Amino acid sequence: MARIVQKYGGTSVRDVDRIKEVAKRIKQTRDQGNQVVVVVSARSGVTNQLIATAKSIVAQPNERELDMLLAIGEQETIALTAMALQALGVPAVSRTGAQAGIMTDLVHTKAKIKNIDASLIEKDLARGDVVIVAGFQGMNEEGSTTTLGRGGSDLTAIALAYALKADNCEILTDVDGVYTADPRVVPGARKLAEISYEEMLELASLGSKVMQSRSVEFASKYNVNFEVRSSFNNNPGTIVKEESASMEKVVVRGVAVDKDQAKVTVSGIPDKPGTAARIFKTLAASHVVVDMIVQNIGRNGVANLTFTVPRDDSARAEKTVAAILEDIGGGNVSVIANIAKLSVVGVGMRTHSGVAASVFQTLADHNINIDLISTSEIKISIVIELDKADEAARAVHKEFGLG
Ligand code: ADP
Ligand code: ASP
Ligand code: MG
Repeated sequence: MARIVQKYGGTSVRDVDRIKEVAKRIKQTRDQGNQVVVVVSARSGVTNQLIATAKSIVAQPNERELDMLLAIGEQETIALTAMALQALGVPAVSRTGAQAGIMTDLVHTKAKIKNIDASLIEKDLARGDVVIVAGFQGMNEEGSTTTLGRGGSDLTAIALAYALKADNCEILTDVDGVYTADPRVVPGARKLAEISYEEMLELASLGSKVMQSRSVEFASKYNVNFEVRSSFNNNPGTIVKEESASMEKVVVRGVAVDKDQAKVTVSGIPDKPGTAARIFKTLAASHVVVDMIVQNIGRNGVANLTFTVPRDDSARAEKTVAAILEDIGGGNVSVIANIAKLSVVGVGMRTHSGVAASVFQTLADHNINIDLISTSEIKISIVIELDKADEAARAVHKEFGLG
């Protein structure tokens, strides 16, 4: 008997018909003699609607209350999925994050999982029940509901697979697996049979929303193999696992586009030790995650600093920095929102050169201007104009013969 964790995303449970289909699939897995723990997301669009409702009352809702509100999306689907299973004669029990023993830190809207007490789920399984757990949520030590960041049901599934020592973890979604680029943007994109944690993590952090990046980080840290596959068919998906020697033969594994970034420029700041430290410390204190950072060479004692942040955090970033400018000796802060980040990723870049040159040439051929550049061992990221992002992704994808 194997123990399987399955996660169904928002599109997979978008309405009652889909929930019934999902229940059939879960039943099949259980009928094969497996213990099954299922994580479900909210129906597609529900989390966005809840956020919009909250913002119609107040522009920046209290984050504790926002978490309380967002958690109901998943609470609806766990109960409906359990009912659909029971209707098929399968014993099933639904559990919220707290009832599943998922304990988090105190941060709201992007809490980290601290530990999972799986004892209640173990009892359910021992009784023969299928357990349906609400994704994306947990409880902190003050007894408050927390959420794990957008796309956080992936993290719930992977963390549960680890805590329950599951034999398999399947992330069931609305595409057949992880592709060389978002198949909705790049029609020629190809499904990958396997991908390393590191590449998946880069793709996810760089905008491929097929997996939440924090969930991949967790999987990599605890070596939880998982498969991304479709809930709409039985095609084999993509296995995400430790890097193997053969993976290095491929130079570029995939292309990602992130359209949810904004660029913050802090200009005219004193060119002296400690300035950048002050700015990024204050940003960290207000939980703004900063990505690409570029500082120009100081002239006449002043410097400019440019960095990218998630667009949703850009107003907060601007306000946070503005508040300390006087203190650090002057400067201005401004936000430019219509940018996108294009990235190419592959572990083979460690051993192959010339990738950057090819990317730059391809963009030049399409008359696309390069704004910021950052690189790591296995990726190159470029900030370009938002309107050009899809064209750039298709061109670069073609250049590297990805599909
Ligand atoms: P779920 O609701 O199941 O969590 P998501 O919408 O979060 O699903 O993620 C699946 C979507 O990710 C796909 O519909 C696809 O458009 C998008 N996507 C972006 N990049 C990729 C990629 N490289 N491979 C596959 N899908 C991708
Ligand atoms: N419902 C949450 C979201 O939309 C979590 C998830 O779908 O994974 O972000
Ligand atoms: Mg998702």
